[in-house]
Amino acid sequence: MAVLTLAPLAAFTDNYIWMLHDGSQALVVDPGEAAPVRAALDAAGLRLAGILVTHHHGDHVGGLLDLQPRLQGQVWGPAREVMPLPFVPCKAGDSVELLGQRFRVLDIPGHTAGHIAFHLAEPSDGSAPILFCGDTLFSGGCGRIFEGTPAQMWDSLQSLAALPGNTRVCCAHEYTLSNLRFAQVIEPGNAELRDYRSWCEAQRADGQPTLPSSIAQELAINPFLRCAQPAVRAAATQHQALAEDADGVSVFATLRQWKNDFR
Ligand code: ZN
Ligand code: FE
Repeated sequence: MAVLTLAPLAAFTDNYIWMLHDGSQALVVDPGEAAPVRAALDAAGLRLAGILVTHHHGDHVGGLLDLQPRLQGQVWGPAREVMPLPFVPCKAGDSVELLGQRFRVLDIPGHTAGHIAFHLAEPSDGSAPILFCGDTLFSGGCGRIFEGTPAQMWDSLQSLAALPGNTRVCCAHEYTLSNLRFAQVIEPGNAELRDYRSWCEAQRADGQPTLPSSIAQELAINPFLRCAQPAVRAAATQHQALAEDADGVSVFATLRQWKNDFR
């Protein structure tokens, strides 16, 4: 059976357009621009069989119209958002069949009101599960809350955190190093975080992506998934006085606000 290849295509200054292909057919996720996609298709002689879109922001949909002539399939996108061209509307529980794979759709509002993710639980080549999560979960961080509430974003992140630990986390931005700088302020004593940051710094120095990450990796180092950890809770409380019995959402909201202002 065909081996699936997963690759991040660099776009703009720090976006990744994820490509998955089987040697003849490809899908791409969140094509903010068309040129990197065309170049990758041409380099490997691939047909563009479909496009997945997680949310409506320009850096995720800007290349759709330019790619339309190359597309030999459909565009799947968030049912509750507006997009620049016709698409198959997707919501929680739907599945998308592409390249002989079945992707399950998750609703993960917060960054935008209708943000969705695509989860491939069982790639046909037996490789680890794949998650395309747009701008919701980043390595070491999470997306800004533009259209939703902290409670929504928290629920969305919790649902991603519950996926199998070996799930490959394919986020749409290379924000890892700046996220980890913040994460270390929150948890200076986290040894795994320290090691991971060194590895990521070496990757970037080498011109390599830090992604995909994994759910297990993120559970160990990402403060936004670690709001129940005493050290994370203590850091949040020190930044902004929280009630003794403050819940996870309050800790999360404090961290998110802190990170917004963090330089
Ligand atoms: Zn976005
Ligand atoms: Fe983005």
